[in-house]
Amino acid sequence: MSDNLYVDVILPLAVKGTFAYHIPPGTCVELTPGMRVAVPFGKRKIYTAVIYRVYQTKPSGFEVRDIVSVLDAKPVVTDLQLRLWEWISDYYMCTLGEVCNAALPSGLKLESETRIIPNRLPDQDELLNETERSVLDSVSRTGGMSIKQLQKAYRDRDVMSLLKVMMDKELLSIEEKIREKVREKILVMIRLPGTREDTKQIDELFNKMKRSEAKKRLLSAYLKLKGDKNVKDGGEIEKTVLLRKAATRHSVLKEMINQGIFEALEKKVPLREIHAQEIPLRGNKQPARLNDSQQLAFQAIGKQLKDHNVVLLHGVTSSGKTEIYIHLIRKTLNKGKQVLYLLPEIALTAQMINRLRLVFGEKVAVYHSKYSDRERLQTWRTLLPGGDQKDRKIHIILGARSSVFLPFMNLGLVIVDEEHENTYKQFDPAPRYHARDTSIILAGLHGAKVVLGTATPSLESYYNCITGKYGLVELPERYLDMKMPEILVVNTREARRREAMYSHFSLTLSEYISRALQNRDQVILFQNRRGFSSYLECQDCGYVPLCMRCDVSLTYHKKTSRLKCHYCGYSEAIPLKCPVCKNENIMMKGFGTEKIEEEIALLFPEARVGRLDLDTTRTRKSYEQLLDDFDKKEIDILVGTQMVSKGLDFDNVKVVGIMNADTMLNFPDFRAHERSYQLMAQVSGRAGRKKERGLVIIQTTCDDHTVIEAVVKHDYHAMYSNQMTERRNFNYPPFCRLISVTLKHKNRELLDGAAEKLAKNLKHHLGERVSGPEYPLVERIQNFYLKTLLIKLEKSSKLQEVKSLVSIEIQALLRSSPFKSLQVIPDVDPY
Ligand code: ADP
Ligand code: ZN
Repeated sequence: MSDNLYVDVILPLAVKGTFAYHIPPGTCVELTPGMRVAVPFGKRKIYTAVIYRVYQTKPSGFEVRDIVSVLDAKPVVTDLQLRLWEWISDYYMCTLGEVCNAALPSGLKLESETRIIPNRLPDQDELLNETERSVLDSVSRTGGMSIKQLQKAYRDRDVMSLLKVMMDKELLSIEEKIREKVREKILVMIRLPGTREDTKQIDELFNKMKRSEAKKRLLSAYLKLKGDKNVKDGGEIEKTVLLRKAATRHSVLKEMINQGIFEALEKKVPLREIHAQEIPLRGNKQPARLNDSQQLAFQAIGKQLKDHNVVLLHGVTSSGKTEIYIHLIRKTLNKGKQVLYLLPEIALTAQMINRLRLVFGEKVAVYHSKYSDRERLQTWRTLLPGGDQKDRKIHIILGARSSVFLPFMNLGLVIVDEEHENTYKQFDPAPRYHARDTSIILAGLHGAKVVLGTATPSLESYYNCITGKYGLVELPERYLDMKMPEILVVNTREARRREAMYSHFSLTLSEYISRALQNRDQVILFQNRRGFSSYLECQDCGYVPLCMRCDVSLTYHKKTSRLKCHYCGYSEAIPLKCPVCKNENIMMKGFGTEKIEEEIALLFPEARVGRLDLDTTRTRKSYEQLLDDFDKKEIDILVGTQMVSKGLDFDNVKVVGIMNADTMLNFPDFRAHERSYQLMAQVSGRAGRKKERGLVIIQTTCDDHTVIEAVVKHDYHAMYSNQMTERRNFNYPPFCRLISVTLKHKNRELLDGAAEKLAKNLKHHLGERVSGPEYPLVERIQNFYLKTLLIKLEKSSKLQEVKSLVSIEIQALLRSSPFKSLQVIPDVDPY
């Protein structure tokens, strides 16, 4: 191989650009982009880097160092992936290194600080060379070592390559930074003691139980379940499943256990597998037969995809969109192509994987950040060309936003379920990408098609349909002609006046809840916690101070005692009297899920209550377990934030209560009304999906608000046209594009100076398009003060040019001496 061989590599760091290295002579692998090399960086550090370019002319102007070693014999990143990384880095104004860092599972990223831990003992007849044995010993003895320490101990060795070989053999693995917390659930399993298994014994049992119908039911249910379950695991059936199937009470089972008929035992199950284990990986179920309107929609999608790359499926909640996706997936697999199925929330994958596994079995794999590094690496490697497909071929990836980074080989279809969800956007850290929009680019690279699905399209996507950019297919009826839920609006101000309010519960709401509890139906109560930002409201007339220029409510700033607009910076003193009714009854608003949970306990002491929000899912019970319990009717009332609104499919929810629509409607954000509609329509959609018509109670003081009216009438189109008028009038997306630039520093004065300077320089080029600087909603995070500039660009502007101008100004600012330690964060299409 030539002596003059150089590579440009991408380092998985926030550094700008690529870095050139020399390939020492004697390297006998043919190097191509996408392979990894270990390279020195800075004084002592070593990183894995991804080759971006291979060439032969010596770069001039700086010293070029040698790589340490080559880590792969074949690329682990494909060309198309590199092109997607480029697009993300250009579009979202971040470095290739940041994209690389987000994209690669950590198993592919070794660096000096990475800790290596022992993974398994070698088999007796497994041959290890001396060094390997010695490394394994040291790592086992110490319980784990960093690569840096290993490099010190094995100075004359190529430690990176050595580790790579040993990790491939699974002798060693990388210590995962975020150790998975309690991820097990204890299930109570029921079985017949061994001696009772044969038919004669069972007949005897039945005879003995002549008088107890309930007991007989339990026994037959057990035998039935066991017969269905073609798995060899000692015939254990989960207690709750058994009780539900037999429709008997726990006391009956308990008596049978006491009599020695059944045995109970506890089994620990990893949470993620709870669903997977119930449904064997058979995957031979035929997809559901589509009804007429679903069939028409399915055909229309196919037809629209002939002239559009993207089609929006706008189908009301429970219209059977998922069933249509399943047919689309099957069609794509039949063409020998892969499918990416994106979901906005990790927890939703648990429900969805069941539905997909029934039909597609092992062809589906799940990919998201709650899976261990090892599992993610495995999926990555399986997908690579010539990857380890011996055990398993993956055709469908079900995942959260990071799955757009996987090495797809011939993607045919991307499904973006609940496309309106803002969780598709990554806020922090960079790359601040939107997975829906990125997946459209990904599909474009593969020549694949995209189906966006939702009951409540984002204004952007629906607008793209109206302008003809996307195809549109609408499905306005629920499956089985289930009626859309009936929606009642309770004016809480009036209710309070009539003394028909107990704290946050109107009489109407509590009556419906208690009726539901009596009928053993379930209830969901929705309290949007984004109400943390307080606003003012007149208790007599309901007046909320709004910004005159931006049509958002003003935020109460306790420290300065002022009301402020977070979009344009307008501020005013706190009014002593209501400017409308002149009464002095203005109050600060905002309450959370915890409070609601507390009040339910007082109102309905017998109800079993679960709370689903960021706090409860981070700690004790995880999201999946809560949903699992709710699904099994072990919880009567589920209280939650927007997490409960996402595409969950429960059969027994009769009543949905929206505790306070005002907090959503008055949230200081130009998307507040769109989001409110989406949240209310989605959470309403959880009611009455299977049995009888559901009922939704909305508590609000704005009962004549156009958004509430649209929710009550299930009229997306009314909301759409109202909101579009406002967006046009106030010039917000989709009529313009937004780029925000946030500056961060610990010193407030310095930050103010920097922000003013950047604003001035940008305004010099962009004029009125730049607004701010403003303190964002949360002014200080972890001791860093924040200030934000907002750039509004007309649709026709040359986006790329503006971005490079913004970058140049940011770089210039960072070069001037007082601002070196400043952080400046551009965010394209901020949400
Ligand atoms: P969406 O995704 O539109 O909210 P789903 O696909 O979840 O709706 O459908 C709602 C419920 O109705 C699901 O439990 C689903 O299994 C059932 N369903 C919908 N369409 C069919 C069909 N054609 N055959 C059988 N069941 C269906
Ligand atoms: Zn304003």
